[in-house]
Amino acid sequence: MYWMYALIALSILVLYYFQDGSQTREVDWTDFEKTAMAGEVEKIVVFSETGIAEGYLTEKGAKALKFDTSLGNGEMKIKTIIPSSDKIQEKIDTWNASLAGSGKPQIKVTYEKNGDLMKFVWNFGPILLFLVLMFYMSRKMSSGPGAGGGIFNVGKSKATVFDKNNGTNVTFKDVAGLAEAKVEIEEIVEFLKNPQKYTELGAKIPKGALLVGPPGTGKTLLAKAVAGEANVPFLSMSGSDFVEMFVGVGAARVRDLFKQAKDKAPCIVFIDEIDAVGRARGKNPNMGSNDERENTLNQLLTAMDGFQTNNGVICLAATNRADILDKALLRPGRFDRQIYVDLPELTDRIEIFNVHLRNLKVNAKLDVEQLARQTQGFSGADIANVCNEAALIAARENKDSVDWNDFMHAIDRIVGGLEKKSRIITDEEKLAIATHEAGHATITWMTQYGNPLVKVTIVPRGRALGAAWYAPEERQIIPTQALLDTICGLLGGRAAEEVFLGQVGTGASDDLEKCTKIARSIVQVYGMSDKLPNLNYNDSTGQDMGFVRPYSEQTALVIDQEVKRIVNEQYERAKEILRKYAAQHNRIRDMLVEREVIYHDDVEEILGKRQWKSRTDEIMELSAADAKRLESSSSSDNKTKDETPKTAPSLSGPKIADEDDDDAGTPPPFEK
Ligand code: ATP
Repeated sequence: MYWMYALIALSILVLYYFQDGSQTREVDWTDFEKTAMAGEVEKIVVFSETGIAEGYLTEKGAKALKFDTSLGNGEMKIKTIIPSSDKIQEKIDTWNASLAGSGKPQIKVTYEKNGDLMKFVWNFGPILLFLVLMFYMSRKMSSGPGAGGGIFNVGKSKATVFDKNNGTNVTFKDVAGLAEAKVEIEEIVEFLKNPQKYTELGAKIPKGALLVGPPGTGKTLLAKAVAGEANVPFLSMSGSDFVEMFVGVGAARVRDLFKQAKDKAPCIVFIDEIDAVGRARGKNPNMGSNDERENTLNQLLTAMDGFQTNNGVICLAATNRADILDKALLRPGRFDRQIYVDLPELTDRIEIFNVHLRNLKVNAKLDVEQLARQTQGFSGADIANVCNEAALIAARENKDSVDWNDFMHAIDRIVGGLEKKSRIITDEEKLAIATHEAGHATITWMTQYGNPLVKVTIVPRGRALGAAWYAPEERQIIPTQALLDTICGLLGGRAAEEVFLGQVGTGASDDLEKCTKIARSIVQVYGMSDKLPNLNYNDSTGQDMGFVRPYSEQTALVIDQEVKRIVNEQYERAKEILRKYAAQHNRIRDMLVEREVIYHDDVEEILGKRQWKSRTDEIMELSAADAKRLESSSSSDNKTKDETPKTAPSLSGPKIADEDDDDAGTPPPFEK
């Protein structure tokens, strides 16, 4: 880098010196005088201390003295040493007098001290200042906060180190639920604490474990807890920290990270969001695959191979998308273990609430179990957020403690956004929204796989004008009928508008988008349509750039027809159900217009008990103790689940429809 600076500075100097075509010629005093007398000098600068005079030539003078005028408009001057006996001012006065006699312009005179030094400072000062400033800034950046900052430290890893002194002190007590994940991870703690127990038997300590699960489920927390429990340093880095605009920096950072880890062993290296670097390497090099990322990944693979087993460095990584990771990362010897961290079940949620309620001043009557039931589909991070929001709401209302209502408002707010009571809605619009929401409520109630309804509201929240909250079913395998029922439920709003208002509005666009996506995945992903049975055109590896369709034009046509057919059939079905239960729908609608919010019990009163008992209904009816019993008896099922081949659940699964869930009548992620 210093060579670079020197080169840049030199180029600037050279350019600066030559660029303007300035020319100076040294002449003796007689020639100087002759030129001045001829009227070819317009200005004389006298440097009294050095006894030098510079005469700035007129254009005519420059030509007469044969200066090269083609170089630019720079100054052309002659320079001479003033003879010591001469009094320069008197001389110039004489020249001016004779010039005045012949009608030529006068010569101007200025006096300056220390000519050369001043000129040097004037000429090169700005450049020097610039260089000093650059040097200072680069020094400042490289010594700035956070190692790895600055130009000189670009190849250093940006790992944050937590150890005994500045540790977060997270232990397994802070991680609620996640029983199965904890069992696996506790073993890693044991490896770090008593390695000889394993090495004596000849066992090799695993090099790494990959924590896989949806966002906010506690993967980072779990990794920190391992370090806290084992009492070893924890080097944490995010996958995106490896990425920089300079080529080769990612690989350098990987090397540095593992070097640091070896120095600190035994320790844990944690790479969060590893998919940023660990994405499968491109198959087609001409497709402009990201070379820099691949270099980083290759270095990571080599680094993980490079450190010896049993030297006390264990690499943990977290990702939401194990399916797109490079297979080489997942092979034994690198991330030997994959630990699934799922969204918390009822009992887990109770525990998570208890962890986060520890720091809050809550009302003694608060029913934590009921809270956990109301937050189906929430991740640990969502629950932490609910607790914090509830405390903020209580504080805003100057309460002494946080109570049930605050939690309910917090949940509503997190799911649906802020209430917008001030939004002006005409009676006509209100009727349309109520008709739409009542349509969703009726259809989900009257279809087998419709999710149990929790609450319907027509108070605008966030972007939505109305919303219906549902308790989503936690199903691992979704039957075709469930997908069709979901589409039917989504279309319930629009169908109700058509049946009861005689015209449809724009409010259903979100529903339509979701149900089209589900219908498309029925045909294209799950191979459930009669015309294209057992075919999957999806690429779960994430390598398909979407440029080439894996099917022919005819198949594309059939896919479109099938999607259309499925949606139309469900729309007709929705209308049929609504016509059949028109009276009940209208009662729900009127109640909504009147009260703005109605609950599960109100709908049950109007439509009667649901014919089908859903899995969620059953869980909701059980007491917490029963639920626990159920959990323990099903834990054997969980074990078998773990033993299945270790591929991550496909994210293009049934959740396709829920990606940006923010309106009425939809299944997970939240109860909306
Ligand atoms: P991401 O994949 O988005 O990085 P993550 O799975 O790493 O998410 P964490 O950062 O571990 O999620 O969790 C975020 C916060 O959520 C934690 O700081 C904690 O407050 C809370 N949390 C999540 N899961 C749990 C849990 N099981 N017990 C207690 N708190 C939890």
